[in-house]
Amino acid sequence: MAYPKKIPHGIMFHHFYNEAHPWGQGAISADDLNDLLHYIGLERILPPLEWLKRLKENKLKNGDVCLTFDDALLCQTEIALPVLEKYGLKAFWFVYSGVFEGRLENLELYRFFRVKYFDNIDDFYQLFFKKVSEFGIATEADPEVEKKMLADFPFYSANDVRFRFLRDKVLRKDNYEKIMDAILKDRGLNKKEMSKSLWMSNKDLKYLNDSGHVIGLHSYSHPTSLADLSFKEQFDEYKKNYSHIKRATGQNPAAVAHPVNSYNKNTLKILRKLGVICGFRSNMFPKTKMGAINANAFEMAREDHANIVKMMEM
Ligand SMILES: [Zn+2]
Repeated sequence: MAYPKKIPHGIMFHHFYNEAHPWGQGAISADDLNDLLHYIGLERILPPLEWLKRLKENKLKNGDVCLTFDDALLCQTEIALPVLEKYGLKAFWFVYSGVFEGRLENLELYRFFRVKYFDNIDDFYQLFFKKVSEFGIATEADPEVEKKMLADFPFYSANDVRFRFLRDKVLRKDNYEKIMDAILKDRGLNKKEMSKSLWMSNKDLKYLNDSGHVIGLHSYSHPTSLADLSFKEQFDEYKKNYSHIKRATGQNPAAVAHPVNSYNKNTLKILRKLGVICGFRSNMFPKTKMGAINANAFEMAREDHANIVKMMEM
């Protein structure tokens, strides 16, 4: 079965793996990407500049798709870009700027640590629970919460639930990071050193821009819930992101992907003010009886590549 001709939407990519970049959940290889592009149909994939032109002229039609890469990950330029170049395909690259200016993004660093240094996630969980109890904190999940989580996410294992419960409800961000940093230190790992294999450089952004790709906004520090920030905080997030991209590429960014799909009326106001004309969500919702819709140019749908991989297997 061919990829269905849904409303105009982006295909959303995150992690890729090869010998140099370790596999982790959701990561695909260059061959997987190659197959996926053929499944979608190369001729249907619009270059980002064409996407923006059709959007402005109200000419995007069902079946149109574009490619989007989030989070400025080095594995994307090292693994996915050569595949795109083989076919002359161009994409949107949504980058958050903090990591270009020396900020270390723990979410990504911790993921890298988990996938690179552990054969399976349970080995990591055992170490994590041990460290948590060393800090004198009980590591059992609340049975009620555990039951609810398993009902909401039936694919979670007992350890998944216990880990998430500890991370999100017991430790919360600061203590969670303290524990993770202690584990990294025990292993003799340096986050600055690790970050070199995780994120692109300004040179990569310039190269992409100069070869017909489009660099888009994705905030400065990649907050987990941007919509919870004040107008001013949101404005700072996007203003700093905007200035960085402009410095690196010489272009005014015209597109955005909402980090963790988080935005509100203030966000859209800020983006309009910055001259952005196109924004992407990270799912195909909201859905109506007629199927998915694009609410407006700032809330365009995207399909996660993982869902397309599932469709290909059917
Ligand atoms: Zn992101």
